[in-house]
Amino acid sequence: MSTVDRVTGAAPFVVVGSSLAGLRAVEAARQVGYSGEIVLIGTEHHLPYDRPPLSKKLLEKGSSDGRVTPPHFRDAGYVQDGLQVTVRSGVPAVALDTDGRCVILADGSAVRYGCLVIATGARPRQPFDSAGQLSGVHDFRVHEDSQAVRAGLERGARVAIIGAGLIGSEVASSARTWDAEVTLVEAQEVPLVRALGATVGSAVADLHEENGVRLLLGACVASLEGVGAVEAIRLDVGTRIASDLVVTAIGVDPETDWLRGSGLQLDNGIVCDANLWTGVPGVFAAGDVVSWPNGQFGRQRLETWTSAAEQGAVAAKNALDPATARAYTTTPYFWSDWYGNRLQFVGSPVADEVQWIEGGVGQGRRAVALYRRADRCVGAFALNAPGETMKLRALVGRGTSWPEAIVFAESRARSYLARQ
Ligand SMILES: Cc1cc2nc3c(=O)[nH]c(=O)nc-3n(C[C@H](O)[C@H](O)[C@H](O)COP(=O)(O)OP(=O)(O)OC[C@H]3O[C@@H](n4cnc5c(N)ncnc54)[C@H](O)[C@@H]3O)c2cc1C
Repeated sequence: MSTVDRVTGAAPFVVVGSSLAGLRAVEAARQVGYSGEIVLIGTEHHLPYDRPPLSKKLLEKGSSDGRVTPPHFRDAGYVQDGLQVTVRSGVPAVALDTDGRCVILADGSAVRYGCLVIATGARPRQPFDSAGQLSGVHDFRVHEDSQAVRAGLERGARVAIIGAGLIGSEVASSARTWDAEVTLVEAQEVPLVRALGATVGSAVADLHEENGVRLLLGACVASLEGVGAVEAIRLDVGTRIASDLVVTAIGVDPETDWLRGSGLQLDNGIVCDANLWTGVPGVFAAGDVVSWPNGQFGRQRLETWTSAAEQGAVAAKNALDPATARAYTTTPYFWSDWYGNRLQFVGSPVADEVQWIEGGVGQGRRAVALYRRADRCVGAFALNAPGETMKLRALVGRGTSWPEAIVFAESRARSYLARQ
């Protein structure tokens, strides 16, 4: 019996959450030579699929045929026969019994585990209790949401999007490919402050208006109106905006309700140590659901593709071989696509100063900004400059001094201009 097989004994390696982090966890288990039984449990009725295209390519006019299957990472043959994973789809876990080492499912069954990775991600916040009662009102997290919004766009709907964060902005961008009338409503005076900081958040907001979206900042939606189907949103100042398709995108909360009473520490996610261990024997966590101490960036819960994928693999390896467990640290990274522009961010947006190195934000333009905290470069933003991002990520990850970072970025900008 190999080391990784010994940890689980006769009980399977179980992963709850059948999406990106969960898939990476089961793949990593096989990569390290685990030969025992693996069970992958998921609420959705699909095999793991990729979420970023839901608000981008799959929603845009002309780029998809309104496909009915989600963009799966792997097909059923590979998951079930290749990886030898038993998939329990469409059945949520409802409780965790850490003394008995088992996960209780909604159908009443109990799945024993030798070790467990929890990767239950996050769920959209609900702005209105009544939202589900009107047709034409949608969250945006799963394949079905994307399909429903696309169907509304195909019908020529007037669109109101509540929340000008990354997802709301991408939906606005995709809706414009259908020439839809789009209103984007944001409660804050500056959008994306948490993701990009105020300077860059304010600059990128201009892309919406440049592309024909009506952006309302500092505006609160008080209610939805309609009989059976949504007909309008009503702002707290009384303004009525006629809309027959409403997308709510006001952020997500970690999916931890099912773990209440389990003994796991829950505080804006599952609280883990640097090794993604919950502190409970055999139980690790990964992806959007995990809060963990991320090296120089401190305790974080990220909602980004790259960290979810990496954490899934690390959590599985650590769970299966705790003696060689290693800490997971990362320089946070995400991208977003709006109106044909690629936005990328690395590091932390919490800064004392933001300095533009190249140009400024504008449709189709290239721009780079660096973020300073004390004497270090802690973050970087790039617009339409994909060749810079991983270099800037390494620079931020090394804790580069501010003057050194400025010199580096300016010299890259000069070389780019010289090549034009
Ligand atoms: C529309 C959209 C676009 C995005 N675009 C980008 C992008 O451009 N760049 C970027 O960096 N990131 C992007 N992201 C974020 C990225 O997709 C997420 O960070 C990633 O999906 C997180 O993966 P995860 O496996 O941790 O969680 P999730 O993908 O949330 O998956 C969790 C899974 O667990 C299941 N689950 C929940 N509770 C239970 C339970 N009790 N029992 C069983 N199963 C359960 C859920 O149904 C879900 O299938 C985007 C996200 C969305 C929604």
